[in-house]
Amino acid sequence: MQELTQYINGEMVKGTSGRFTDVYNPATGEVQAKVPLASIEELTKAIEDAAEAQVAWAATNPQRRARVMMKFGALINEHMEELAELVSKEHGKTIPDAKGDVQRGLEVVEVCMGAPSMLKGEYMDNGGPGIDLYAMRQALGVVAGITPFNFPAMIPLWKMAPAIACGNAMILKPSERCPSTSLRLAELLTEAGLPKGVLQVINGDKEVVDGILDNETIQAVGFVGSTPIAQYIYGRAATNGKRAQCFGGAKNHMIIMPDADLDKAADALIGAGYGAAGERCMAISVAVPVGQETADKLIEKLVPRVEALKVGPYTAGDDVDYGPVITAASKERINKLITSGVEQGADLVIDGRDFSLQGYENGFFCGPSLFDNVTPDMEIYKEEIFGPVLSTVRTETYEEALDLIMTNNYGNGTAIYTADGDTARDFAHRVNVGMVGINFPIPVPLSYFSFGGWKKSAFGDLNQYGPDAFKFYTKTKTVTARWFSGIKDGAALNFKAMD
Ligand code: NAD
Repeated sequence: MQELTQYINGEMVKGTSGRFTDVYNPATGEVQAKVPLASIEELTKAIEDAAEAQVAWAATNPQRRARVMMKFGALINEHMEELAELVSKEHGKTIPDAKGDVQRGLEVVEVCMGAPSMLKGEYMDNGGPGIDLYAMRQALGVVAGITPFNFPAMIPLWKMAPAIACGNAMILKPSERCPSTSLRLAELLTEAGLPKGVLQVINGDKEVVDGILDNETIQAVGFVGSTPIAQYIYGRAATNGKRAQCFGGAKNHMIIMPDADLDKAADALIGAGYGAAGERCMAISVAVPVGQETADKLIEKLVPRVEALKVGPYTAGDDVDYGPVITAASKERINKLITSGVEQGADLVIDGRDFSLQGYENGFFCGPSLFDNVTPDMEIYKEEIFGPVLSTVRTETYEEALDLIMTNNYGNGTAIYTADGDTARDFAHRVNVGMVGINFPIPVPLSYFSFGGWKKSAFGDLNQYGPDAFKFYTKTKTVTARWFSGIKDGAALNFKAMD
């Protein structure tokens, strides 16, 4: 069986802790590799080496650092097929979806090619007599990224590219379920010219995460994963004086107004609800039609589309719309939640629980499920299911639909389908959610903007990637400089204005 490694000081190195966890092929249910779980000793040494490497990296001028990003971007493009295959092999998503995963990460690398213009700082000429002020952005030092299983390429790239372009060193702790893509990306970054030690990929579990949170050298933690862990990491990192941004789970709603193009809305719900087996933090898991007639027509349009979905392994190519979920435990949890929905009185229009695929009976596949008449008190509404299950909550008015979203604990993404500009504008203005789509189901912002949810979908300040990332990964130093030629100014004991 394949034994995966750590990536330390520019090399793949064997784990020395003696602890491992299994990496599954979700399509077959077989263990395909084992990944080492780092000890605190391995982590501490990797952090020390990173701190040493960071000093020279931060002193490298920003355009030289940007050139490493340019080469890295070219290598990602060159290795697109290989990276997508690595993603699919461990995650189970289809190859086109895996390419999207790599591509949305690559777009952040592309923004980092322009890092120097984001790091220029501010300058004020003549802020007082003979006084100029300037603010510079400096790297933090060694920072950490802790990432989830569901985007094995994109989210590690969202972390590593801005952190490194800003002059930091990074300790990346990818999901232990999908570690191979991060290891390969680290190799490519070294090939692109990144000095050894600036990116260390440390595989591990809670032990290593806690080690990161308690290590005094680590200056900042960027986390992406489920809400309970995000909240825990935010609390512990902040208590230890670290800068932290922790992105959590989601329950994303789409309002469908009576004037919406219902075919387009149904198509969008299929992609956003069932794509990647629903394992996206921006998946739409709740459809909110306004009016009984809209709801009836929408369900009518959804049913044949859901029934036509093809579920299978990524190796089946174009014959597959989505693949397995990540683990047997995840499949069991999804099925249990569906059962709870039935028990609590929702209408299970399409039941995906008994799905089985010939030749892949042990794979972690879930058939698509569709619920109607879901109410907010049901478990299937309250929980993030993270599976191919779409719930329909019927509402009578736009205000009722908006209120449903406003009172939900999560606030990652949301969408509205409507032909009316006023309603769309009102929705975008009032809704308390971080990313909003208007006739657009998965509004993940382009990499020139920043990504982040509200409420229990994110803890901490600033969003991921885009302009916010350059703020998160740097600290500001402001200099007030005075030169005396032509200035007559005696000693001043007062804290006075400059004018
Ligand atoms: P997870 O919270 O189980 O794991 C995320 C990371 O935390 C992994 O690296 C894991 O090793 C580590 N971890 C897990 N348990 C831990 C513990 N007790 N203590 C310390 N570290 C721990 O999340 P997941 O299952 O890998 O990913 C799915 C979740 O991520 C979903 O909730 C999804 O919505 C969310 N997600 C959010 C975003 C976003 O940007 N908001 C993006 C993608 C995924």
